[in-house]
Amino acid sequence: MSGETWSRLTINTRHIINKHIFMKIYDLHQDLMTHIRFRDELGQSHQTSFEDIHSSTIDLVIATAFPFPKNDDQLDSSVPSLITEELQMYCEYLTEDPGWQLIENVADLNSKKQKIILHLEGLNVFDGSDESRQQLDDWVELGVRSIGTHWNVENQLGGGTLQPEQPLTKLGHEVIEYLEDKNIIFDLAHMGRQSFADAIKLTNRPLYISHGNADAVYPNVRNYTNEQLRAVAESDGVIGVFFANTFVVGKNNQSKIEDVVAHIEHIKNLIGVRHVAIGSDFGGVVTGGVQDLSSVGEIENLLVALKTCEYSEEDIEAIAWKNADRILRSHLI
Ligand SMILES: [Zn+2]
Repeated sequence: MSGETWSRLTINTRHIINKHIFMKIYDLHQDLMTHIRFRDELGQSHQTSFEDIHSSTIDLVIATAFPFPKNDDQLDSSVPSLITEELQMYCEYLTEDPGWQLIENVADLNSKKQKIILHLEGLNVFDGSDESRQQLDDWVELGVRSIGTHWNVENQLGGGTLQPEQPLTKLGHEVIEYLEDKNIIFDLAHMGRQSFADAIKLTNRPLYISHGNADAVYPNVRNYTNEQLRAVAESDGVIGVFFANTFVVGKNNQSKIEDVVAHIEHIKNLIGVRHVAIGSDFGGVVTGGVQDLSSVGEIENLLVALKTCEYSEEDIEAIAWKNADRILRSHLI
């Protein structure tokens, strides 16, 4: 990054937090229920809650059911029941609070209520057996409409973030076809780089990365290379930038809003603003957040920062929700 870009991105944060932009936002990734249940255990600062989202301008959130097996092993046999348990907790909450619309199909996106899409972050225990196929169908039956095949660990579908050279397996191919057949959103976040390259050859839908940043701004195997970002643009897809300090500037530095804007700026300059969205990762940020952008209550600060950096109202709106809306409609059909 050139020094010139950095100086343009220097923002007076105090200036930002006194301003407001009331614009609706789609947040493509939150570990909402996990945070509500295990925040203290995980030593997290408060990042999100149903109430916080209710009183924010977030119009749609994609929320994860994430398992925490006792032995910390994402391949443990308890994982399916832990996922089911968390999905049921979402369903119970949403039934009790009529203020929410659970998205089941594309028409539900037109609801005037605040919207939630249930997401699975990693099909780590899927082994292709009749039992695991039934389990997957059951989760879809419970309301899951967005699935990422991977998280950090290798599974029988291919490589996750930490296995960048692992190819997609035959079973991985099958699952991606299943997601396409069922009109379930296919999330490429956390897929290892080789598996990502294999997967994008299989899908005709716009590529979708719920939460990810630019490797060229902060090099990390969890961030996305220029080549990957170009593939996103070629498919007319989107990437949701996210606010975990470790993937914005690295764990040894404290990130600020301008560092998040630097990721947005890079992606915008490389492939166009049409492909940028927001996927905060609130609830899933375990190693520290971005200063002044560390909870739902502060998400608006990003839009104010973009305005301060002379992004047009149209571009801010595209990043805040319109780009994401286009992709969700194309996947859910
Ligand atoms: Zn994640």
